[in-house]
Formats: sequence, structure tokens, C-alpha cells
Amino acid sequence: MKTFNFFADGTFRQPHSNDYLPSENPATGEAWAQIPVCDAEDVHIAVSAAQTCFSNHWSHTTPTERSRILRRIGETITANAECLGATETQDNGKLPNHITPSLSGWLVESFDYYAGMTDKLEGALIPANAPDILNYMTWEPFGVCALITAWNSPLGVLIWKLAPALAAGNTVVIKPSEHASASTLELMDVLSEADLPPGLINVVTGAGTPTGEALVTHPDVRMVSFTGGIPGGRAVSAFAAAQVKPLVMELGGKSPQLILADADLDLAVNGVATGIFPVSGQSCVAGSRAIVHSSLIDDFTKRLIDAASDALIGDPNNPATQIGPIAHRAHYEKILSNIEAATDYASLLLDGRGKGPSEPPFSNGFYIGPTIFGPTTNDTPLCQEETFGPVIAIISADTDDDAISIANDSIYGLAAGVWTQDTNRAIRVADRLDAGTVYINNYFGAAAQSPVGGWKQSGYGRENGIEGMRAFMQTKSVWLSTAPAHPHQFGFS
Ligand code: NAD
Repeated sequence: MKTFNFFADGTFRQPHSNDYLPSENPATGEAWAQIPVCDAEDVHIAVSAAQTCFSNHWSHTTPTERSRILRRIGETITANAECLGATETQDNGKLPNHITPSLSGWLVESFDYYAGMTDKLEGALIPANAPDILNYMTWEPFGVCALITAWNSPLGVLIWKLAPALAAGNTVVIKPSEHASASTLELMDVLSEADLPPGLINVVTGAGTPTGEALVTHPDVRMVSFTGGIPGGRAVSAFAAAQVKPLVMELGGKSPQLILADADLDLAVNGVATGIFPVSGQSCVAGSRAIVHSSLIDDFTKRLIDAASDALIGDPNNPATQIGPIAHRAHYEKILSNIEAATDYASLLLDGRGKGPSEPPFSNGFYIGPTIFGPTTNDTPLCQEETFGPVIAIISADTDDDAISIANDSIYGLAAGVWTQDTNRAIRVADRLDAGTVYINNYFGAAAQSPVGGWKQSGYGRENGIEGMRAFMQTKSVWLSTAPAHPHQFGFS
């Protein structure tokens, strides 16, 4: 059993309570590591280290110095992509080819992208309507930012926050999910090669309560960037509201895939299947509602079942595996119970339960295969609540208007897919969808340059792009008098 410790001020430390949580390998169900439960005292150590680093060092660095350090972080992650990826696979069951190449490819490009932005986010000289005044505006960091992440993609979710937060001039305290903290703690070990100032990046671990709550409510934490589900997001929002803290909220989704009457069915079936099953639906943008034109529904359904039926489910470290385990036991049980409940009102066309490997040790793992319900109606829990599993519901629509109104009938608004061979029609539909990201004849793309985020209860604030850096900054408007003498003696003018 490997023991991890939390990381503050450049060193690993045992938790004050000496309390640890087990971390299970979801491929086998065996506990393989333990992670510390940090209490308010541990959180205070980490936040104080971040605050000291901000005041004494990081806020005095030039943009070029920050840029060099950012590139060094990216290069160090790339050099260690294989071991970081292996830890993530062991901790949350992600297939190595879903994590390792991205840690030496598109995901770490965030560090290059934001390294290039440190000296380009210019302020402004503002033509304020005031005589004898020079008014200019600068972009400033907040100070210490809390980065709270989810378990489905711990390093991916973290990198999208870490690169812009540091580039903007903040120091950070990270709190990964209690269900998958190992790769984030291992990253701290790996980054010792990057010669970072102590206190620049700190990590506390443990559950939302007490650890996350202690972090969000710490008075020296000036901003919180949160990725997780709606209940966690609401709790964090309430804590932050008490101290009027700015937030970025990256929450869940129930993303629709609209298969219009003229869709290329081969492309659409492959795209819809790829948009949910390979990651077992454990992606915030997973397309979990297929809204299919009524003329295509029989053909689409048959082809989707065929495409998903033969997927090889099992040990994530077997290169032939196409679908790995569900990331942790509690979530596995939640998906099974959602599937069982849905059988009361929807037809189960493909049942993924019991589809995992039959030989030990993998027979004890948390496996669920592709699961397809349909046709069903959009007003069911299956279509309204996030399952975050390999479960898709098929819904019939008679017209584009019908498909759009079903797609938008949701508290979520994270992503949507549109499948059609008519580009003008695709743009017309995309314009009317309530979603922060719309994919047309493709699904799942993301890049450091392109802002992502939710509409409605999928969240607010943005990651990636220029907006992703501005989220970690605040403006300062400076009023300089150019008058020969102070114009306001005793009165106010
Ligand atoms: P979660 O909300 O349970 O937990 C997320 C993080 O918040 C964890 O670190 C958790 O410990 C912490 N947390 C929970 N309650 C807290 C509280 N009261 N105070 C402080 N911290 C608290 O979410 P999860 O189950 O880890 O992740 C799955 C969810 O994340 C899904 O809904 C998924 O859609 C969403 N997600 C969204 C995005 C996105 O970019 N929009 C990306 C990945 C995952």
C-alpha cells in the first residue's frame, strides 16, 4: 500500500490528524494507496505557504519569468507523462491511451499557450469623461486561488486551471477529488525537477467536508475555480458567498446529440458512440441523449447497438481494451441503481450490467458496458439527471424545431452535437442550442485556445482561451490627476 502525503511550501507533510483515506484501483477493487485527510490546520499551512510565495516572490516576477516557469512545468509533465498516466490509470481506471498521449500532447499545450499570454494581456488607456485625468486600467491577479477538481480526469481538469492561474500571477492550493488524488500528488513529486518556488503550488486532500470547505472558507483564498457536480458546486457557492468570493463553476451536463433527418448515419452512429462509451460516460460533455429524427430512429438504434455490443471491456492496461472500469465504487453503485430505476419506465435495449471480465482479479473491478435505452421521453430522470456513466437514452423528434426544443429542455447547457450533411442547417440549429460548446459532425474536441464552459446549471466562467486567463484576474482602474493643482478643495465635484 502506497502512502501519499499532502504538499505545502515545497515539501510533503503528514496530515495533522494522521488520518488517511484508502484509494481503490477500480480495475480490481483492491485498495492500493492511502491519501491524507487534511483538516483546517493542514489547509491553513498550505494557504499560508501560497500567500507567502505570492507576497514575497510570485507577485514580483516579470511576465517573462512566469512564462519560462510555465514552459518548464509543461516540459516536466511531458517528460513524466508515462508515470503520471500510469498512476492515473491505477487510481481511476482511465485507459492509458486516453491520458498519457495528452500529457505529452494537446493537454500540456495549455502551458505553452498561457506562457505566451503572460506579456500580452494588455491593459487599457481609457478615455474617461473627466477633465485633467489620465485613467488607465491594468489586469491584476487575485493572490491565492483554490483549484478544486473532479475525479474523472484529475490531471486534465487540473491543467486547464493551473496554467492560466499561474500565468495570471496567482499562487494556488489544489484540492483534488477524494476519489482520485494520487496523480495530483505524484505531480508534485515530479515537479521537484522544475525548481519551482516553494508555496507556488500546494495540494491538500480529503473530502468536500472538511477539506474543501476549509479551503473555500479560508480568508486568504481570494478566488475559487471549481469543477464537479451541481450539489458540490452549490455548496461551494454558498460558502464562497459568505465572503463574496469570485468563482468559476465547471459543472455537469446531460448533453444532447441531434441526429437530423439528413445525417450521414455511419458518421453519426460512430460519433455518438465515441461521444459516450470509450470513457464510460465519465466526461462532463458525454453525449447522453440521442435525439434522432423519427425517420432514422430504427436504423440509428440498430446500428448504435451493433457498434456498442462488441466493445472489449476490461483491464485498462491491456492495450486491446476499449472500455475500462468506472472510476470508483460509490459511482459504480450509483450508475447501477440509475439503470435499475430507468428499467421501470424505459426499454432497456442494451444492458451493460455484468459485462466486465469474469476472471480475478478483474472480476472484482467496477465494470459496466454500453447501456442503451429507447425510445424514451425527455421528461424522465434518465434524460433529466446526469448519470455520468456509459448510459444513453434515445429520443425521437419529428422536426428540427422539435429536436432543438427537446435538447434545450434541460437544467444543463454544457455541450451539444449536431449531425447533418447541410452546413447551413447545422449553423441554424447550433445558433438555437443552449450550450457552451456545440460540435457539428464531430464530438469531444478541446484545445487550450478555445474557451469552454457551461450555460444554465452547467456553470459559469470559462476555461481555456483568453477568457480562461481573465477568469483568474481582476481589473484595476487608476485615476491620475494631471491638473496643476488639486481641483477638489473641500467640495465634491
Ligand atoms: P463533486 O462535486 O462530488 O466533487 C468535485 C470536487 O469538489 C471534489 O474535489 C470534492 O471533494 C469537492 N467538493 C465536493 N463538495 C464540496 C464542498 N461542500 N466543499 C468544498 N469542496 C467540495 O464532483 P465529482 O463527483 O468529483 O465529479 C463529477 C462531476 O464533475 C460531474 O457532474 C461532471 O459532469 C463534473 N465535471 C465537469 C467538468 C466541466 O468542465 N464542466 C469536467 C469534469 C467533470
